[in-house]
Amino acid sequence: MALRRWKGSGTWPDADQAPRRRLTLFHSVTWRAPSPLEAAVAYAERGLPVLPCHWPTTERGGGHWAGLSCSCGHPACSNPARHPVLPGDVARASADPRQVRRWWRRYPQANVGLATGVLLDVLDLDEPQGDRLMRAGAALGPVARTGTGRWHLYCAPSRLDDRDLHQAFASLPGAGARVWWRGPGSFVLAPPSRVLTGSFRWVRDLSHQPPDAATLLSVLMPALG
Ligand SMILES: [Zn+2]
Repeated sequence: MALRRWKGSGTWPDADQAPRRRLTLFHSVTWRAPSPLEAAVAYAERGLPVLPCHWPTTERGGGHWAGLSCSCGHPACSNPARHPVLPGDVARASADPRQVRRWWRRYPQANVGLATGVLLDVLDLDEPQGDRLMRAGAALGPVARTGTGRWHLYCAPSRLDDRDLHQAFASLPGAGARVWWRGPGSFVLAPPSRVLTGSFRWVRDLSHQPPDAATLLSVLMPALG
C-alpha cells in the first residue's frame, strides 16, 4: 500500500533534543522533531494505529539513568519509558485522530507507540549491523534510529515473526541475537519518543516507500554476515 506523504514534509518544527554523538556518519541529517501530539496525530492520519506510552521524567526522583525515571512511578519499572500508559496494551491503539488528540492532551509528554502488523512491520536491528547496512547505502524504506542506538527498518506488513526471522538467519552464527521482528500484536516506539538514554529520530521518514519483507531481508543478509 502506498503511504500518503507526510503532511508538511521537509519542515519539521522545533529543535530535536537528541544527543548527536552517535550521528557522525549521518551529520547531514537535519530532521527536527515535532511534538508528541503533532507526531501522533500525523501517524494516525496516515492510518497507523498509535498508543500513548510512558516517558522519562525527573519528577519522580531516584532516577534509573542521569536522574531520569519512568513516568509510571514504579521504582522498579523494568521497561522504563517504553510501556503503554493505558491498560489493554497494544489492543488499545487507535488511528482515530480525535481519540489520539484526546490521549495526548491528557498525556502531552507521552511517547508515541506505533502498532505493528497493520500498515507496517518493523525489523529491529542492533547498532553495528545497522551502521554497516547504512554505510552500504542499502535500498531501504523508512528507517528510524532508536533512543538506544538500535535501528528500526520499516517494511510492508507480513506474517513473519521472530521464529521465522531467526530461521532465515540460522546460517549466520549469532545473527538471531541481533535482530527482532515487530509484527501483529506488537508495537514500537516512533520518533520523537524519548527513552532514558536518548531520543528516536527518523533517518529516512515515512515518505519513503516501505519495501516488502523479503526484499528487506535480502538486503539485510550481507550486513549480518
Ligand atoms: Zn514504567
